[in-house]
Amino acid sequence: MARIVVTGGAGFLGSNLVRALLDRGDEVVVLDNLLTGSESNIEELFSHQHFTFKKHDVSNHIWVPGPVDAVMHLASPASPVDFERIPIQILEVGSLGTLNCLGLAREKGAKFFLNSTSEVYGDPLVHPQPETYWGNVNPNGPRSVYDEAKRFAEALTLAYHRHHGVDVRIVRTFNTYGPLMRPDDGRVVSNFITQALRGEPLTVYGDGTQTRSFCYVTDQIDGQLALLDSDYVLPVNIGNDKEFTMLELAEHVVAITNSSGGVVHEPLPKDDPMQRRPDLDVANRELGWSPKVPLREGLEKTTAYFATVLGL
Ligand code: UDP
Repeated sequence: MARIVVTGGAGFLGSNLVRALLDRGDEVVVLDNLLTGSESNIEELFSHQHFTFKKHDVSNHIWVPGPVDAVMHLASPASPVDFERIPIQILEVGSLGTLNCLGLAREKGAKFFLNSTSEVYGDPLVHPQPETYWGNVNPNGPRSVYDEAKRFAEALTLAYHRHHGVDVRIVRTFNTYGPLMRPDDGRVVSNFITQALRGEPLTVYGDGTQTRSFCYVTDQIDGQLALLDSDYVLPVNIGNDKEFTMLELAEHVVAITNSSGGVVHEPLPKDDPMQRRPDLDVANRELGWSPKVPLREGLEKTTAYFATVLGL
């Protein structure tokens, strides 16, 4: 049993990860300022004897009493709508937050795990994206607050590894969806499903030919735990390598929900990546991990979750 600090543990990925850690017998301390995370994602865990929650903004100094075996830094708003709404907080948590988490890991002699992102590849010119690709990021566009913060966080993490000998792991998380996502998160899967359940038209940005590769959350968490437990210190892509256009995604959601609202096209956001698909060779080779849940099955489960949450 390990004692693990999870920042952002009340968010979508974090609250799924925390459940998986508790299930395998670990003790978990969650730090979250609830800016985009939600107490409702974790309140059923408050009575768990191995669970502690502290409301805290990790961009400020972190203090955790007692021994710590690993610090998993997931805290960050991650939806493109947040990039416009709270850009400074995103830059702070990616930079100062990562610095504070690395400092905590160093002080405790703990492993440090950074949740990075496929956004480090920007609007990629290499397809699919291997970890060796340096990316194509606009350094001052609207997405840069997230992309550059995560690129900085990766640089800082490996500097702490090389300079201070901190044992580190870096996951590059590709588009992930599933239960405990916010209905108003603003990303495409939650938008399409909640719109379809309400009988509203699905908002397809641009002509809908842009692609993403969607990973169901249980696969994502299995991959992240495999990385945590491995010895591999360089970044690893974790995602699903089946690629779909947004029009294809809309078709799946319409078929699952029997929605009659149709689709409506809205403008494509600036710097929206045209294509994205992980190269999973490193994850396969180093972790023996590959995704299992097909898109249709994951969308059906996620639709059932949103229908319950929204009472529809
Ligand atoms: N998108 C869309 N309709 C929406 C929300 C997003 O067509 O209501 C598109 C968006 O333009 C992008 C893709 O879906 O091409 C994925 O967007 P998301 O915000 O989910 O994540 P991203 O991968 O861009 O961070």
